[in-house]
Amino acid sequence: MGLGSFHVLLLLLLQALQASAEDSDVQLECLCEGATCSLPDRCHGARCFSSLKKDSSGMVLVRGCFEGEEKIRMHCSTTPSSLQVINCCSQVLCNANTTRASLESLLPSAPEEKPVRYQVETLALFVLAPVVVLVLLSVVSILACRRLHHGRLQRLQEFDTEQGDGLITSNLGDGTLADLLDHSCTSGSGSGLPFLVQRTVARQISLVECVGKGRYGEVWRGQWQGENVAVKIFSSRDEKSWFRETEIYNTVLLRHDNILGFMASDMTSRNSSTQLWLITEYHENGSLYDYLQRVAVETSEGLAMAASVANGLVHLHTEIFGTEGKPAIAHRDLKTKNILVTKELRCCIADLGLAVTHTQADNLLDVGNNPKVGTKRYMAPEVLDETIQTDCFDAYKRVDIWAFGLVLWEIARRTYSNGIVEEYKPPFYDQVPNDPSFEDMRKVVCVEQQRPFIPNRWFSDPTLSALVKLMKECWYQNPSARLTALRIKKTLDKIHSSLEKGKES
Ligand code: ADP
Ligand code: MG
Repeated sequence: MGLGSFHVLLLLLLQALQASAEDSDVQLECLCEGATCSLPDRCHGARCFSSLKKDSSGMVLVRGCFEGEEKIRMHCSTTPSSLQVINCCSQVLCNANTTRASLESLLPSAPEEKPVRYQVETLALFVLAPVVVLVLLSVVSILACRRLHHGRLQRLQEFDTEQGDGLITSNLGDGTLADLLDHSCTSGSGSGLPFLVQRTVARQISLVECVGKGRYGEVWRGQWQGENVAVKIFSSRDEKSWFRETEIYNTVLLRHDNILGFMASDMTSRNSSTQLWLITEYHENGSLYDYLQRVAVETSEGLAMAASVANGLVHLHTEIFGTEGKPAIAHRDLKTKNILVTKELRCCIADLGLAVTHTQADNLLDVGNNPKVGTKRYMAPEVLDETIQTDCFDAYKRVDIWAFGLVLWEIARRTYSNGIVEEYKPPFYDQVPNDPSFEDMRKVVCVEQQRPFIPNRWFSDPTLSALVKLMKECWYQNPSARLTALRIKKTLDKIHSSLEKGKES
């Protein structure tokens, strides 16, 4: 439309120029701009004009001449509209004084605004309407989800009271936790109670005192129906460790006298934070680390303790085949702080948060999702120099054997011979600083290839010297040269029978 009008205007200008050529008497010199001009910027006619005319690129300024009375009357009396405004004058170069601004001021403004406002409104409608609809939909779906979740929780709670409490009070009577566990070992939830009972038990526990602090949180003595239980409370940032330990303990056939007895695992939301609990049997003697600080033991006692750790390790390391079997498990953080002492003065292995499992049938190595490695002081040379074959399960078992050798050394220091005993010290106490760094350990264990110091008195006792031989066979630099857990167990049994024989004779 704009272009068409522009052509018409050009045509008119041309006609004006022609007319001016015919009628040379009333010629005025005018400024010519934006039109076909006879001279570069001048034209001659009866009237000069300047106009603003709308085309596709907006309002275009045109100056020129009009010729012929008819045309002059027609154009010069045109009322300004939103499409065009023409200003005529009749003095030489008078149209040079008209500015674009002065022409624009003649344009009618009100009718122009309407379509613009209409466009903005339409645009707003198109943009805002879907946003509003989306927001409304989200609000509705959030409300619906909350309602659903609330309903589910309520149903779960109802179910829990009906089923959970029912199970405990009716099916399980007022039996002890041990009875409860005996009943449920074949229930399919692994080595603990059925999942539902796990939760109910967990929620009936009252915490009494904090008995230990480890890497992942605190361990509390709790009470369930008058019985002591241990509650390991993980900080919510250590969810992975809780998950891993729960997963391992729920492995079928894990229960063993020398593995800490698992009861239940529970995740609750309290005061808007997640609480992760792992409930196990409680051992009032505490960890082997705590025990050896307080108590020194006779040869047979020390030997029995060492043998019980080895038994636990054999059970962990051994795969039991069949659908109800168990995978082979490597501990990866064996140390006296992760071994507990029972009231019969036997040991059980605890803290399975870093364990890895392996099944031969599918050669599946499940390293878990926990990036943490073991305790630096107990790390084997191949862990320290990072040459460990991380894709090979046997490599993890050999790391456990190294650590077992160190545990054996700690027990031996606290085992009497001829009435003598050393004070408790952790491995490498005289070779590395307190809380040694990775680098401190690597220097001593890999570079200098040092091993814990063996006091002379051990060699004058047959049992302790047999233990020295055994621990040295756990400390080979070459992991594959180390003894297996089974070999250690058998050797300890032999040492035990020699001791018994020695006593008889
Ligand atoms: P972490 O994974 O944080 O190291 P542990 O399972 O090793 O936690 O427990 C930390 C400490 O808490 C242990 O060294 C021990 O002193 C104490 N502890 C853990 N479990 C028990 C238990 N069942 N009975 C008594 N004490 C325990
Ligand atoms: Mg620990």
